[in-house]
Amino acid sequence: MHNNFLIPREICIGGNDKNKILIGGNNPVTIQTMWKESIVDVVSNKEHLDSILKRINSLSLLGCDIIRFAVPDMASAESLCLIAKNTEIPLVADIHFDYKLALKCIEGNVSKIRINPGNIGSIEKTKLVLKAAHDKGTAIRIGVNSGSLPLDLQESVNLGKLSRAQALVQTAFRETDILDKMNFYNAVVSMKASTVKETIEANEEFAQKSDIPLHIGVTEAGPLISGIVKSTLAFSKLINEGIGSTIRVSLSSTPENEIITARQILEECGKRKSCVKIVSCPRCGREGFDVHNFVDRWQNELLSLNKNITVAVMGCVVNGPGEGKHADIGITGVGNSVIIFKHGKIVRKIDAKDADNAFREELLSL
Ligand code: SF4
Repeated sequence: MHNNFLIPREICIGGNDKNKILIGGNNPVTIQTMWKESIVDVVSNKEHLDSILKRINSLSLLGCDIIRFAVPDMASAESLCLIAKNTEIPLVADIHFDYKLALKCIEGNVSKIRINPGNIGSIEKTKLVLKAAHDKGTAIRIGVNSGSLPLDLQESVNLGKLSRAQALVQTAFRETDILDKMNFYNAVVSMKASTVKETIEANEEFAQKSDIPLHIGVTEAGPLISGIVKSTLAFSKLINEGIGSTIRVSLSSTPENEIITARQILEECGKRKSCVKIVSCPRCGREGFDVHNFVDRWQNELLSLNKNITVAVMGCVVNGPGEGKHADIGITGVGNSVIIFKHGKIVRKIDAKDADNAFREELLSL
């Protein structure tokens, strides 16, 4: 059924240093997110460095494999190199136009550079970047976007001669042709459209013609709910066809929500196993326990645990322990109290104010 699509070649993000990961081939689909703030100066401020490393570590525990940072200037490049030196998670520098920033990041063990050779400015500068990347084992990601097509292809789209998806594919091949001519093969391609249909069409067409691994994503996917819906529809179709070696869910929300969404999509597609499964009720007029608040408060911590368990968070005692009886641990309300159950049996009844502490103790003792 999927014979038309080529198996992606295996490439290495990060060369031989500690920030290394293989993608494509038979490797698991990796999850990535993008740092949402400007990189602060970590070179002269150790507290900033520690705080970024702590956040990177928590994103990694949540299931993130790769993190991309925007690098608009040399100060950001220097900071990113220092961050890369101090973490094992592969980092990506997102660079537009300036080859010197790319050279700096390659030298500083950043694992992948997102830059389009066609935008670097001259063939000599492109050669310098690709040679440095080749020598260091750094990957290059070509990223093309439906909002910034070359003028001639945009014109063809306007005249109805090409679909936007076809124009995206042709734009990507213009960039990969440059890499091919310079014998550079450690590359990934992304073609981002803002609609599900165009995202699917562009990636399917590319995967029929090239074995370069694809980074898939829907750009400008919108606020949380619309972004999740668009990404889920596009990714589930592509991932089930074997297309997509690395994914990024773009949301106008936190990196944590992007990672959790990506994890959930991969899990439902049978491509990733989560350790902790949270089941929670939608809440109704019977609720004696604020399920929404508890789930919001605990979700990231629970999903970061390395335990193969199911956690039930239920609103009331009428259905709570019954519906959650297959869970390893559950919590629900009864009047002004909260009960904690394990494998369907009540193990604690406490005041609501003590719920978090008691839940944590019971969780740790599992
Ligand atoms: S567990 Fe209770 S509160 Fe939650 S949806 Fe079911 S009946 Fe309503």
